[in-house]
Amino acid sequence: MKEFQYNKVTPEIIEQLKEAAPGHVTVGSDINQDFGHDEMEIYGTSMPDVLVEPLTTEEVAAVMKICNDNKIPVTPSGARTALTGGPVSILGGVMISLSKMNKILDYDTDNFVVRVQPGVLLQDLAADALKHDLLYPPDPGEKLAQLGGNVSTNAGGMRAVKYGTTRDYVRAMTVVLPTGEIVHEGATVSKTSSGYSLLNLIIGSEGTLGIITELTLKVIPKPTTTMSLIIPFETLDEAIAVVPLFFKNHLSPQALEFMEKEAVEETEEYLGKKVYPKEVEGTPVNAYILATFDGDSEDQIMDIIEQASDIVTENGALDVLVADTPKLLADAWQVRSALLDAIEANTDLLDECDVVVPINKIPDFLHYAKSLEQDYGFKIKSFFFYV
Ligand SMILES: Cc1cc2nc3c(=O)[nH]c(=O)nc-3n(C[C@H](O)[C@H](O)[C@H](O)COP(=O)(O)OP(=O)(O)OC[C@H]3O[C@@H](n4cnc5c(N)ncnc54)[C@H](O)[C@@H]3O)c2cc1C
Repeated sequence: MKEFQYNKVTPEIIEQLKEAAPGHVTVGSDINQDFGHDEMEIYGTSMPDVLVEPLTTEEVAAVMKICNDNKIPVTPSGARTALTGGPVSILGGVMISLSKMNKILDYDTDNFVVRVQPGVLLQDLAADALKHDLLYPPDPGEKLAQLGGNVSTNAGGMRAVKYGTTRDYVRAMTVVLPTGEIVHEGATVSKTSSGYSLLNLIIGSEGTLGIITELTLKVIPKPTTTMSLIIPFETLDEAIAVVPLFFKNHLSPQALEFMEKEAVEETEEYLGKKVYPKEVEGTPVNAYILATFDGDSEDQIMDIIEQASDIVTENGALDVLVADTPKLLADAWQVRSALLDAIEANTDLLDECDVVVPINKIPDFLHYAKSLEQDYGFKIKSFFFYV
């Protein structure tokens, strides 16, 4: 590994940090062990020497300046739900946790934006926006992640197929640079082409260019209705082949998920409930599509559901189940959301790997991944969403 030229945190530096962020600095063994890892401990665990949990941009700036002047490594962290080791202080030094900067500041309903601190949890903004009849569309699987973490990883998620990824919803931000300088990037408008798009450079940069301390995010009017379909297929190839047909027929699903029977069965066992059909009129089911559509009226959504059902049944679907009760809808999505947890619960060692391939290469890739099971003697469970 490359030799990094950083200094150790000294008692004098700790005193400076305590003056910069009074009451928000924890040192050494007083730091909770949770700050030493993210969701993938196999990529390494390591504790910071000092934890700072600031409340303001100015505190972040003062801490960054001290660290920069003294060449102390800094690791920003959100909810530490990353699957990569990104928010782990592998070099020790100072961790700046944004968890306590967790306020939804205000909505501008004329311009369809909301201003938030980076430590607001995704699930809290999602729920709060609905109360204002608005939708914050990005919906990655981990709802306890923070918005600053979502932006820093450009998180995608289940609704990306229709609405795009987190990047598409960031209008403006306040960032503290490594020197401690505070900068504001972006604007509350959809079109701006003045100068370089530094906003887009920072989105997805995983805290390597600066620390995000405020975000202005786009929201949209909440769709009036949504409906999900559970579509079972005998073969994986048939399931995947229907996907382009939704788009060719101008049916724009809000979410489109593919799941193999094996992964669904394991998850249902883990949750203690049976939701998805395993056989339709004597034909075994081996793959599922879970599709969600949204619309602005009951009539519109029923029309979409009818068209989608016709298309899939003409193209190999064994059945179409409309998740039209709140219980079935919740159960269908609970299984989807718990796939990873179920695999984790039944495995000694897990590695989770996000793979991106063009839609028409998905069957080839899945067959290839399956073939590796025999070659290497480990289990590979596949599930994914379309973006
Ligand atoms: C069960 C599960 C499901 C998931 N599903 C999806 C999915 O569907 N799609 C998807 O794209 N991702 C998914 N993820 C990954 C998820 O997007 C990231 O874990 C999440 O966005 C990180 O947010 P966080 O607050 O936990 O940040 P952390 O994990 O704490 O940090 C992530 C990175 O961002 C940096 N960072 C955090 N906050 C800031 C800040 N304010 N300023 C600068 N840098 C910062 C950290 O240094 C680190 O490099 C999933 C993760 C899990 C555990």
